[in-house]
Amino acid sequence: MSAHQTATTAVNDRRPDAAAHSVRADENGVLANLKPEVFFRYFEEISRIPRGSYNEKQVSDYIASFARDRGLECYQDDIYNILVKKPGTIGYENASPVIFHGHTDIVCESDEGVEHDFAKQGIKLRIDGDFIHGTGTTLGADNTVGVALALSVLDSTDIPHPPLEVVLTVQEEVGKGGAQHFDASRLTGRRLIDFNWHDPKSLFAGCAGDISARFRIPAEWQKAPAGLTAVRLFVKGLSSGHSEFDIHLERANAIVLLARVVGALLDDLPVRLASVKGGVNRYVIPGDAEALLLLHQADVDRASEIVRNVAADIKKEFFVSDPKLEVGLEPSDGLVERVLSDVTANSVVQAITLTPNGVQSMSLTIANLVESSNTIALLSTSDEEVEILSTIPSAISSRRYAILKRIERLAQLMGRGTKVTTFADCPEWPYNKDSKLLAVAARAFEDTLKAKPHVEVSHSSLELGLFNKKIPGIDMISIGPEAFDVHTTRERLNHTTVEPIWRLLKEILRNLRD
Ligand SMILES: [Zn+2]
Repeated sequence: MSAHQTATTAVNDRRPDAAAHSVRADENGVLANLKPEVFFRYFEEISRIPRGSYNEKQVSDYIASFARDRGLECYQDDIYNILVKKPGTIGYENASPVIFHGHTDIVCESDEGVEHDFAKQGIKLRIDGDFIHGTGTTLGADNTVGVALALSVLDSTDIPHPPLEVVLTVQEEVGKGGAQHFDASRLTGRRLIDFNWHDPKSLFAGCAGDISARFRIPAEWQKAPAGLTAVRLFVKGLSSGHSEFDIHLERANAIVLLARVVGALLDDLPVRLASVKGGVNRYVIPGDAEALLLLHQADVDRASEIVRNVAADIKKEFFVSDPKLEVGLEPSDGLVERVLSDVTANSVVQAITLTPNGVQSMSLTIANLVESSNTIALLSTSDEEVEILSTIPSAISSRRYAILKRIERLAQLMGRGTKVTTFADCPEWPYNKDSKLLAVAARAFEDTLKAKPHVEVSHSSLELGLFNKKIPGIDMISIGPEAFDVHTTRERLNHTTVEPIWRLLKEILRNLRD
């Protein structure tokens, strides 16, 4: 990280020729013919800047220079969060300020075989019908949309709006580090419009908080007994999915299933466990997991039979949610020099089996909304320990901590140095049915789009929970155009849904005169 830096320009120093400094429309731009022109101009400009998480300096500097060119007050913090302030337009000078929020970092994923250096290259945009895509990569609409909407309003001279405080955070995709770090005392606004929402038919009005917990079982290693056969137990082909958006779908968890099968083997045979692993990251329901085992050659048939029997039960249980699920045992040719002690092996099975997993409670105030859940998301073996990582989202903090406490009690019960450490504790943003901003937005939605908006509350955890905690009493909503499969190379933005959101945003601002 660089030294602390600030860039401040006085608000009253706005130059009359500011508009002359706006980014030129790029005639050759891929998005040049899309409307609203100003939005897609900025979307394309920003897409050219490499900006994975922790690599946001360039985009932050771009925004700082944008602000300076327009004589707008700007503050950049030491990790490149950026705040730009713009005074209210005529008639709105004394209105209560509105905060805009989005994040500058994007998820960097590319298809197999696609060579893309996210540290140096921007996103190569392409249009296919109603959709904008990356080219073999994530698009980064999450959250280029937010940055482009904010810059479009900051750049405008003809949109009536209250004083604006635009906060664009970094590191959102890797634990919300930017919002955690941001000094919210720099904000005077008590109402906030966020642009990290992907459904243009709804207004987003509340989210869960979450916390991740590492359950750490000290690994007792022993020399692998001579003469045993190595086999690999695998669980694969599960439907997987996002651990917060998809948890209500009752999908199987590969780590939980692995523990079930390993447990059945340990109960019946003198099997030795050499290692376990599973999962991809803390927000994904694990779709694969595996264990390396040693056993007597004479027991291989019996072990295969046990695996087949448990697999048959599991396939029946999950035939709707996970039709492609596979569980099997296969020879392993790697050299196995050490195994976990029986105590450690049994502890691993017990810990995974007894850790709460899946939906824990449903909301009784909002229909079909999961209130709290846990996902055992990652399993790994190192020299020191076997680690089982859980992510616990909940709409109520106390329930989040109560689930965490169950996991901690389990570690206590196991003893032998087992411990739980936590990280990325993010508060929730509770739904407020009396929100004034939500009422204004709902009216503006009906007036401009001639339809009633759905009001959505999510089981996922967003940066807005942090803003809600840092600025007590803040009134917030989130809006955005339609995007699908964000965080994957299938990510796409429906460009036809930007214009209605742009009209909606302008109408909301016009109505925030008080
Ligand atoms: Zn994201």
